[in-house]
Amino acid sequence: MKKKLVVANWKMHLSTSEASILVHRLHEHIKTHRTIEVVLAPSMLTLQPISLEIDSRRFKLASQDGYPKDDGPYTGEVSFAMMRDLVDYSIIGHSARRIYFEEGLELIRDKVQAAVRNGITPILCVGETKNERAQGEAKRVIHDQVTSAVSNLTAEEIEKIVIAYEPIWAISTFDGEPSKPEDMQRAMEYIRQIIKELYGEAAASNARVLYGGSVEPHDARAYLSLPGCDGVLVGAASLNYRQFTDIVEIAYDVQNQTEDHA
Ligand code: PEP
Repeated sequence: MKKKLVVANWKMHLSTSEASILVHRLHEHIKTHRTIEVVLAPSMLTLQPISLEIDSRRFKLASQDGYPKDDGPYTGEVSFAMMRDLVDYSIIGHSARRIYFEEGLELIRDKVQAAVRNGITPILCVGETKNERAQGEAKRVIHDQVTSAVSNLTAEEIEKIVIAYEPIWAISTFDGEPSKPEDMQRAMEYIRQIIKELYGEAAASNARVLYGGSVEPHDARAYLSLPGCDGVLVGAASLNYRQFTDIVEIAYDVQNQTEDHA
């Protein structure tokens, strides 16, 4: 049985001491749940100190990015090779990277490959803009992003990957038009279908597909209960220990119910 994954993307928030306080609160409130995985993605600066503070049975770490070369004169960058003993996961291709830093398909493909080469599981983010959705382009965009990002991986490597469907129009839009869980399910099924066509049934069913976009405690259950949804990627709500704890507890509950019915 696959474990539900709850990923906290802290983005460029929290100083080292603020991150440390949040970790302290999370330790107070989140118990060790062996049937789900809780992953924290702090800033590059705080990864190392946080790694010394977390109970690794309760929390795993992810970086929010990484550089695809292992070593060299790439001033300002941190490679996946440098993070290999620090993190289990890396968020790759987040829409913030695609939009603000103009990361294209080839760079994201190289990052995915570099993460895998260094024993780090990529959490590949894909998703369309509002415009692309309005123009009926969502499927094409998702298809291109997934196909190109995984194109250098073997079927065995693909089985371990995590793909987060994060429609850009749904990210941090707590007062905008909410996404509908049934639409999100269709998009997640489509991602699995792409993997199946490229790498076969086993790769498609073993790869984990998450939903991300303004998830909060009040709607987390709806997303986490969708067939084929292996977890959630949480941005803003992960900075609030009460909200994040509630989302983790909901994931644990949904996982247990699913296991009872298996
Ligand atoms: C994100 O940035 O990955 C994200 C899902 O953010 P939010 O939950 O704030 O929409």
